[in-house]
Amino acid sequence: MSTAASFQTVTSFIDGAWLADRGGHRIAIRYPATDEVVAELVEADGAEVDAAVAAARRAFRTSGWRAMGVEQRQEILWRVHDLLRAHADELARLECLNTGLPLRELKARQIPRAAYNFRFFAEVISQTPGRVWTQNPDYQTSVMREPVGVAALIAPWNAPLALASMKVAACIATGNACVLKPSEQTPMAIARFVELLHEAGVPPGIVNLVNGRGPVTGRALVEHPGIDRISFTGGTETGRQIMASAGRRLCPVTMELGGKSANIVLASADIERALDGALLGIYSNNGQQCLAGSRILVERSIADTFIQRFVERARRLRVGDPMKEDTELGPLASRPHMERVLGYAETARAEGAELLTGGRAVERLVPGYYVEPTAVLAPSNEMRVCQEEIFGPFASFVVFDGIEEAVRLANASRFGLVAYVWSEDLAAVTRLSRELEAGTVWVNTPLTRELRSAFGGYKESGVGREGGEACLAFYTEEKTVTVPTRSLPLRRLGI
Ligand code: NAD
Repeated sequence: MSTAASFQTVTSFIDGAWLADRGGHRIAIRYPATDEVVAELVEADGAEVDAAVAAARRAFRTSGWRAMGVEQRQEILWRVHDLLRAHADELARLECLNTGLPLRELKARQIPRAAYNFRFFAEVISQTPGRVWTQNPDYQTSVMREPVGVAALIAPWNAPLALASMKVAACIATGNACVLKPSEQTPMAIARFVELLHEAGVPPGIVNLVNGRGPVTGRALVEHPGIDRISFTGGTETGRQIMASAGRRLCPVTMELGGKSANIVLASADIERALDGALLGIYSNNGQQCLAGSRILVERSIADTFIQRFVERARRLRVGDPMKEDTELGPLASRPHMERVLGYAETARAEGAELLTGGRAVERLVPGYYVEPTAVLAPSNEMRVCQEEIFGPFASFVVFDGIEEAVRLANASRFGLVAYVWSEDLAAVTRLSRELEAGTVWVNTPLTRELRSAFGGYKESGVGREGGEACLAFYTEEKTVTVPTRSLPLRRLGI
């Protein structure tokens, strides 16, 4: 596959090489800012998925990757880190071309993060001890961790490389092989990423890439009997289907799913910071973030001023060309997605919510898939705009009275990925952080992911966790070995 500006045809990468284009189903990849076709994806069918899983299994057994000393594996992971940093501009541009995410954001946060994932897991594996029990004087029992085998890694389109790289880094650092299936909308930067992994010295077959639609390529992969683990990030409904099929094979899964996270602003907040955080929480990443603070709950005594100031700033957001340095909000990832998000402005009106700003496509930027920064004021948390994940630049405000109501409203959701709390009152934030049903609570800070800690969702936002320890537990099996410390008499049968 060629890189940079030229048109790409992306096939699948199996056992260290790109597959030849043998025809079959093709998907046009469009640049969301202009609707131009910038690449084409050739879908992997069941036979190609089979070949990818077989290559991974073979490499797991014979490439020496899992038996390699940790220092040597670390060297390769560090080289991956360095190569991703060295190619950051190229990767950011490719990512921008198929997502429409602002280039500046990609260069500043997502690509460095993709690189850092490899350094982080290189450190994790070097510091992970086994355990020994010596309490019983007659026996010594130790527990070690071993890689599980081959993992299926399924990633979404909203932050393709940042999310896929986390899965790949955790999986291969612990000695496993994998087959990665990115979203069929966003294969471009990931294709280059897989080439760079091999340039860094990852043996052929340890990371395989299959491209194609979820119900075709993805389904063949997650139902494959040669898969030992499934790590999925995507929508809740897809997660439900994958988990049901994995359950039939007793295949362990992690599910990072949707969210409708509450962003709670108490009257005791530092209002300037809360305002900055609320805008970042819903409008960064073009509003397409699982962890967006998309339900903004504001205490009544400050609600009018806070909402008015939020709306003024939302109207001033610089919407436009994602390749321009000063752009703050780019286009949505696809036309159907844009139409879906715009549909929620209609839903809001029909339900009796007040449209505060936005709610329309940006006419001057057609045929790009741009949606105006949108905010609505919902009289009830029961409304669809407060209960469903919209996944766009669309903030739903709800006003509350007192901390009890804040907790009740925040928890009245089928999701529980993150929660944001803004207050200078220590007792209030401590209480909220205990009572909120969310996998992560960010107090007076937005979007702050600590990789060492667990990340994942309560309720329909997920199953299992990602992060240092959580990934170690997921990608390894614990093995207990018991040895007597002296020659112990055994009960003798059959004498
Ligand atoms: P999606 O569920 O449509 O697709 C995710 C991935 O699953 C894609 O690669 C897709 O091709 C694949 N897929 C679809 N059907 C499949 C099937 N039957 N079998 C196997 N694979 C299948 O999600 P999306 O629209 O790409 O991403 C947006 C969603 O992802 C949002 O709901 C968002 O909240 C969620 N998300 C969650 C997190 C998190 O960490 N919790 C992070 C990012 C995105």
